[in-house]
Amino acid sequence: MSERFEFKTEARQLLDLMIHSVYSNKDIFLRELISNASDALDKRRFEALKSPELQAATEPHIRIDADPAARTLSVSDNGIGMGRDEVRELIGTIAKSGTQEFLKVLRESKDAAASEALIGQFGVGFYSTFMVADRVTLLTRRAGEETATRWESAGDGYYTLEDAARDEAGTTVTLHLKPVDEEDGLKDYTQEWVIRQVVRQYSDFVAHPIRMDIERTEVERDEEGKPKPGAEERKVVTTETLNSMKAIWLRDKAEVTEEEYNEFYRHVSHDWAEPLLRIQAKIEGTLEYRLLLYIPSKAPFDLMLRQEGVRHGVHLYVKRVFIMDDCRELLPEYLRFVRGVVDSEDLPLNISREILQQNRQIQRMSKGVTGKVLSALRDTAEKEPEKYAKFWAEFGRVLKEGVFQDQENQQELLGLARFQSTAGDAPVSLDEYIARMKPGQTHIYYLTGESRARIARSPHLEAFRAKEWEVLLLDDPVDEVWTDAVEKYKDFAFQSAARGAGEVGTEEERKAAEEARKDREKEHGSLLEMLKGALGDRVKEVRLSSRLTESAACLVTDEGDLSPQLEKMFKAMGQAVPDVKRILELNPGHPVMAALQRLHETNPGSSVIGEYAELLYGQALIAEGGQPTDPAGFARLVAGLMVRAAG
Ligand code: ADP
Ligand code: MG
Repeated sequence: MSERFEFKTEARQLLDLMIHSVYSNKDIFLRELISNASDALDKRRFEALKSPELQAATEPHIRIDADPAARTLSVSDNGIGMGRDEVRELIGTIAKSGTQEFLKVLRESKDAAASEALIGQFGVGFYSTFMVADRVTLLTRRAGEETATRWESAGDGYYTLEDAARDEAGTTVTLHLKPVDEEDGLKDYTQEWVIRQVVRQYSDFVAHPIRMDIERTEVERDEEGKPKPGAEERKVVTTETLNSMKAIWLRDKAEVTEEEYNEFYRHVSHDWAEPLLRIQAKIEGTLEYRLLLYIPSKAPFDLMLRQEGVRHGVHLYVKRVFIMDDCRELLPEYLRFVRGVVDSEDLPLNISREILQQNRQIQRMSKGVTGKVLSALRDTAEKEPEKYAKFWAEFGRVLKEGVFQDQENQQELLGLARFQSTAGDAPVSLDEYIARMKPGQTHIYYLTGESRARIARSPHLEAFRAKEWEVLLLDDPVDEVWTDAVEKYKDFAFQSAARGAGEVGTEEERKAAEEARKDREKEHGSLLEMLKGALGDRVKEVRLSSRLTESAACLVTDEGDLSPQLEKMFKAMGQAVPDVKRILELNPGHPVMAALQRLHETNPGSSVIGEYAELLYGQALIAEGGQPTDPAGFARLVAGLMVRAAG
């Protein structure tokens, strides 16, 4: 029985884009079909490890059949196949996270090259067939099941499903090709030489044979090679394998072209853009493995989403045999953008995901692979700073997660990190920062917050500015986390400019400033107490500041307390954290201090002092981008003050 279904909205939109696509390169549909077939063969092999009855009767392979008269082209495999429900789920919908977002960006992008890159990132896969075909059928039978399913669509928003028969498990995708239109990039994909060329170009390294029947007419010949008189022409069909199947990571580097490396990258990453970096190594010793890894040139749009379905792209091979894609055990999470292949000589071929998680060899390999990636990054940072800057702009945020996740490589990762700073617009490394430190400076100073612009104007920086001491401006949420967790880089401790005493200068200067401040505090002692009394529990302390040169007041976090941003983050995650009280610091050099002192002396206990306390506290909150607890009340106080001032 044939049933008709409508594509899910997102799938329909994507299909629409493919049909009306302006992509010059239509050839890639074949690569997508071959890659799906190859994935299906790998999956079947993997499942057959546990359930041997699922093993295919014949060697895993891919077949291409072309019929120039009927203008059809089909790609078949004896892989895992799909059940009826799977077909609906996998072909009729797009389950990938972030599709909606992706489609929006795609529709808005007018430029063909940009949308091509976007589509590549997303990996449109099966849908690309509609660039070259006006009708596509898919006949598939799941390994272990008896009935097959026929799926068919003209790409018009609908598809039909019906039960069907197929001799063995596997999948055949048949394209009813559009008319040839060379100008539009539509070649004659039924021609043997076209198919050969496209397979060579895009799928040569696919590890399974891609076979095609090649037909030749032969005539019986005499000893001299001349056709025998009256001999009839015979059709001879030979089956040829179109791809070399050579594992690219085993080949001599000098032998592999850049284009081949890039094509392999596309195969493992589903990304059409060229990779930014290639990392290749052969590790020998107690554990032997080879790796061919890539870093994409653009962060995938779902990089920050930690959901199912987000690809982590390292494929695990054992002795040239594909074991699994998305092998998360091979790399830490903060390197989740790395794509490629690791091929082990030592792991057992029948290793399963469950075993992997506890496998000691894998853990040691993971350390080794991580080390290779980090040293490649360090190399790039040293030798190709511009390329490294591109890398950092795309993946820096993710790499910084490693600073608190990976104790062992913490220093190395800090060395790779780049930050904004008060010294200029170019991102700086900690080593550059240290090299520029002022004589006597013992700390690496930083300030965290929501945006660079906001942090850069913070009152906490005033004393640093005045002395021209550089401060790192950290505006990533992840910065809150790692600065909280890390003590030192090399010999230098990290110190927040919004935390602790805040004297800026050499050891001696700081001591002197502290003493001077303490002296002034004695002078203003009873006023400070009054102000603290007025603010009550909202602040931990009211004291004089050494860090302010222009502003009247600011709020600082006590040493050892959570920063307000971190407090907010923990609360947003639903964690029970105590309310953190902060310290209100006042600028002893500001005229408002002198005025308050006079008021306090002439009229001790005046209620106006309480109002001033509110005003100072409120403006300190506003200066760091926050809000007074009672904004309306604060506004009333300001208005009252204006009236008084205007007389
Ligand atoms: P992707 O390969 O990136 O997942 P595709 O659009 O190419 O996206 O394919 C969608 C899904 O359809 C695949 O993930 C796979 O589950 C299924 N599929 C496609 N082709 C085949 C095939 N030849 N055999 C089995 N499953 C297939
Ligand atoms: Mg695919």
